[in-house]
Amino acid sequence: MNFSTSKALHDEALNHIVGGVNSPSRAYKGVGGGTPVYMDHGKGAYFWDVDGNQYIDYLGAYGPIITGHGHPHIAEAISNAAKTGVLYGTPTKLENQFAKMLKSAIPSLEKVRFTNSGTEAVMTTVRVARAYTGRNKIIKFSGSYHGHFDSVLVEAGSGPATLGTPDSAGIPQSVAEDVITVPFNDTDTFQKAMERWGDEMAAVLVEPIVGNFGIVKPHDGFLKRVNDIAHDAGSLVIYDEVITAFRFTYGSAQQIYGVTPDMTAMGKIIGGGLPIGAYGGRQDIMEQVAPLGPAYQSGTMAGNPASMASGIACLEVLQEPRVYEELDRLGERLENGILEKASEAGIPISVNRMCGALTVYFGTDSVENYDEADASDGDAFARFFHLMLEEGINLAPSKFEAWFLTTEHTDEDINATIEAAGKAFAAMTEDQKR
Ligand code: PMP
Repeated sequence: MNFSTSKALHDEALNHIVGGVNSPSRAYKGVGGGTPVYMDHGKGAYFWDVDGNQYIDYLGAYGPIITGHGHPHIAEAISNAAKTGVLYGTPTKLENQFAKMLKSAIPSLEKVRFTNSGTEAVMTTVRVARAYTGRNKIIKFSGSYHGHFDSVLVEAGSGPATLGTPDSAGIPQSVAEDVITVPFNDTDTFQKAMERWGDEMAAVLVEPIVGNFGIVKPHDGFLKRVNDIAHDAGSLVIYDEVITAFRFTYGSAQQIYGVTPDMTAMGKIIGGGLPIGAYGGRQDIMEQVAPLGPAYQSGTMAGNPASMASGIACLEVLQEPRVYEELDRLGERLENGILEKASEAGIPISVNRMCGALTVYFGTDSVENYDEADASDGDAFARFFHLMLEEGINLAPSKFEAWFLTTEHTDEDINATIEAAGKAFAAMTEDQKR
């Protein structure tokens, strides 16, 4: 494949945009470098780069694109908003309509508030939990990503349940000290941490199905135990459903597992591809938020008509019959096909999947927490990534990311992807012989 135009654009970008990209994951650092491919346009499950190469898209823009590119219903909604005004700085009826839609899809949302990104949504839930409980500490699970605000760019210290250490320069140690990090799917360590710090803990922050070290499901009963232990300590439970809301069902992961958090943060899919975030939850907690309460949060663009119209249109598409059954069916075909091709080629992999989202880990038997995901073979993934790219299959450039199917992927796309994976695995076997 010829990537010369992408390369020229990237060389230019490096002169003007820090690192050439506006979000670090877009650089190919996680796959041994190379020029990020510059997309030109998309349609349905495909996009085309500036050199004219066509790809089946499994990046899904890191999650939001579940109805494919340029979906006519969403395009029409955005285009109408563009014609009549994208921002007024006043409330509009679209906000009411969308809030009602979210509430009827996710019953724990007694009240909601829209933001511009998932980061803002999660950040505000943490502030509100601190305001409501009068406590400062939060506890989170290692490897989960909750956005780029200070309190959540914190990883575990030296032990399994210790005070956090900053995971980015520029974050004060004093902020990290209010964050405890424990392994996902490890109820005992969570319980011990809560025994030690429970009476200082404002909230536990949970991705109920992890999307950020691949797709990792909670063990049976894990979410319920976390809820019970947190509530016994007087802490709130915040679900970060930025990836999971409307990804696996028309609603959220909390409904799949029958566990109700006190607050939920959302983003990605609910914007239909435009910038958005939202948070919501119990009325008495949400009443902490300005203008009703003392916890401040605002946004010039929050609830803007274009994002509302796009989000409403996206959820309307997702209400069509059999959307999630079809994502699950194609996801299962893809999982089985990839496993079969890897086994034929003698390449050890494991696949985690939920509905139309899956992750392929190299050199692992199973992945149930961050350490196991981290132990997967990054070099093998990097090789696979580049081989798949050459075959016209676009994956996220990181061994930790999920592949996302859309409503526009077809059986033919899955067949082509399995075939491409077969070729990639065979080439990897050849490498090993050399
Ligand atoms: N929470 C989760 C679970 C996420 O995956 C992300 C983004 N990858 C965020 C929060 C932050 O969302 P945004 O990038 O819209 O700020």
